[in-house]
Amino acid sequence: MKIRRKGKLSEGEWVILWESKRRYLIQLEKDKTFYYHKGYVQHNDIIGLEEGSIIKSSHGGNLLVLRPTYADYILEMPRGAQIIYPKDIGTILVWGDIYPGARVLEAGIGSGALTIALLQAVGETGVVISYEIREDFAKRALINIENFLGRRDNHILRLKDIYQEIDEEDKDIDRVILDLPEPWRAIKHIDKVLRPGGILVIYTPTILQVQKTVESLESFKSFTLIETIETLLRPWQIESLSVRPYHRMVAHTAFLTIARKVLTKEENIFQKALPSVENEENFEPN
Ligand code: SAH
Repeated sequence: MKIRRKGKLSEGEWVILWESKRRYLIQLEKDKTFYYHKGYVQHNDIIGLEEGSIIKSSHGGNLLVLRPTYADYILEMPRGAQIIYPKDIGTILVWGDIYPGARVLEAGIGSGALTIALLQAVGETGVVISYEIREDFAKRALINIENFLGRRDNHILRLKDIYQEIDEEDKDIDRVILDLPEPWRAIKHIDKVLRPGGILVIYTPTILQVQKTVESLESFKSFTLIETIETLLRPWQIESLSVRPYHRMVAHTAFLTIARKVLTKEENIFQKALPSVENEENFEPN
């Protein structure tokens, strides 16, 4: 059942029960009970509530009831493979310039976290094609996607090894996102299907993978403006006099390497992108 965004909470919907800093993702079912360390609450008492209500548990606990945001949902949904974190998904969507109507190819589907964001960004007029070798992961991912977005007929799953080939039909691709252990092995196939002007984003946890990926991209005549970035997201504590970064943060997830497809590049020119943080001239002193 698709996540609804508005209105009173109804049977079948997914909701988040927030307890201070913990959160529980549950699907509302008639006559079911939710148990946790502070007792239980009846689903029947949640069905019909407005989002933002607080419900009391049998042992006096308070739970705040809200619909899951996309980020809540992907962090709490069941996983096969490790997901891409929200901070990196945000960057992928903007650096990868995923737009409504785009034809996007991704590999692998993993748990489907990125796929949901891609489907939302391309909208109903776009298409997302996911390559995945593990059928068990793909099945889990499809359930995760359907639970959040409902059934989508603009999502195509190919149970295939992308290192081997990309289907004939998957031509004229606007954007490609790779989250694979050896992405350089897929680049020769992507070179054939990504349209000129198209963007390739590659997610890799280690810098050795980045180096191999960039070397591989550079060996092609048709990938340019190559850049590698990392997104660091630092949460802050704002509590009376204690206004400072939290002691803990997610220190590392992965690097993103981005490249642009061209018809043919001039050797050694346009190979590397300027750091796309800001315009060069904005750095010049007045
Ligand atoms: N981006 C996903 C996580 C992907 S994990 C998410 O956000 O949820 C990496 C996935 O790539 C795994 O599911 C793995 O099975 C798949 N994979 C690895 N090698 C592959 C290949 N050669 N072709 C297709 N999929 C592959």
